[in-house]
Amino acid sequence: MSTNGETGLPIIIAGAGIGGLTAALCLHAQGHEIVLMDRARQLSEVGAGLQLSPNACSVLDQLGLLEDLTPHAYAPDFVKIFSAKSGEELARVTMGTFLKERHGYPFWEIHRADLQRVLLEKVQASDGISLRLSSEVIDLESSPYEHLTCVFQDDEISGNLHCRALVGADGVWSRTRRLIPGHEDAHYSGQVAYRATVPIDAVPERWRHDAGLWFHKSAHLVHYPVRGGRELNIVGLVEEAWEDETWSAKANKETLLKIFRDWPTEVRNLLTIPDAWLKWALCSVDAGGPWTHGNIALIGDAAHAMLPFMAQGAAMSIEDAAILAEHMHQDVENIPAAFRAFERQRKQRVQHIQGISFRNARTFHYGGAMAFARDTVLRLSKPTSLAARFDDIYGWTPGQ
Ligand SMILES: Cc1cc2nc3c(=O)[nH]c(=O)nc-3n(C[C@H](O)[C@H](O)[C@H](O)COP(=O)(O)OP(=O)(O)OC[C@H]3O[C@@H](n4cnc5c(N)ncnc54)[C@H](O)[C@@H]3O)c2cc1C
Repeated sequence: MSTNGETGLPIIIAGAGIGGLTAALCLHAQGHEIVLMDRARQLSEVGAGLQLSPNACSVLDQLGLLEDLTPHAYAPDFVKIFSAKSGEELARVTMGTFLKERHGYPFWEIHRADLQRVLLEKVQASDGISLRLSSEVIDLESSPYEHLTCVFQDDEISGNLHCRALVGADGVWSRTRRLIPGHEDAHYSGQVAYRATVPIDAVPERWRHDAGLWFHKSAHLVHYPVRGGRELNIVGLVEEAWEDETWSAKANKETLLKIFRDWPTEVRNLLTIPDAWLKWALCSVDAGGPWTHGNIALIGDAAHAMLPFMAQGAAMSIEDAAILAEHMHQDVENIPAAFRAFERQRKQRVQHIQGISFRNARTFHYGGAMAFARDTVLRLSKPTSLAARFDDIYGWTPGQ
């Protein structure tokens, strides 16, 4: 049965990233007809690793995708935390079976391109979701409280499409966000992520199995296997001015090695392995700003891009998609009310997680006495207690 109401018009989703693809599937499962637009010519193999915690996996399970994702995912037994000053292992966080049994879903590391491809294949197999690439959503012409006319740019030609609602899943530099009065702008955080992936055989045996998190003054490093354990994802996060014109750029390995010059030799050796590095400016959007206006709603990075220091950016966009669809089911004849209820339900949780990410940005980069205190607490912590600290985040499921 279609729930497109009396109008028979589709819902347009701007952006076929992780949030947009998931929203298309969740809304389609409720019977809505979807037009999913992305400005990219093709959804190509870009990006590197991201973390899919049990809360995100619970939504992907509802969509029947866990089996398709399994060959691409990797579930480390531990995150090992090191001091980059001394090279000492400070603590371990128990992951793997412990988290799966605790929350009912796995904690996975996955390549963004693999996750996007699995979501895309399901979208392409779904009658009722029309995917339009090379289509950039640029404006809305009518009042947001009436049926909308979405204006898009399609390979030099601009077109109009009537719709019931517009969901902006168009990322941190969202154009849809500009349609929301009083919206927050994206801000550069002063932090840059240097990223690379390498074949797992290229790295020493020691780094092939668990995730690693290294703390140093003004920088930290994360590495974990992706692609079913066949590649290692390496991310160096540093405080740096951003001078490039675009928000991601090719990075110079020599510059990176200079930044990490006083790190342990084994880490510096790891950083020499990739032939190519990319760097990304880390930007955020204050989750406290408005996410909805009439028949327009923002999800994911468009609403609340966060620093990656809780590894919850993709997970929050996946959660948003599920909850937006739930409200569209409950209150389908009154979309503005459904969107407002979605925003009310989500905001506190997302602000909480965005806040932890900001705090981690400071804690991970402590030096001196603060670093000493942090490291002492970590040394005294049990691996399972460290894993249980985030029960409220990882234990979330869409039905809550
Ligand atoms: C190319 C790319 C690579 C990334 N790589 C990583 C990674 O390796 N690790 C990680 O943790 N996070 C990565 N991220 C970020 C991560 O995917 C997001 O933080 C998270 O998944 C939330 O996703 P989102 O769907 O809200 O936004 P995004 O994933 O940013 O997706 C937004 C989508 O909207 C499209 N778009 C933008 N403007 C318009 C418009 N006006 N009209 C139509 N379409 C539009 C973009 O082309 C993009 O496909 C990446 C994002 C992108 C876009």
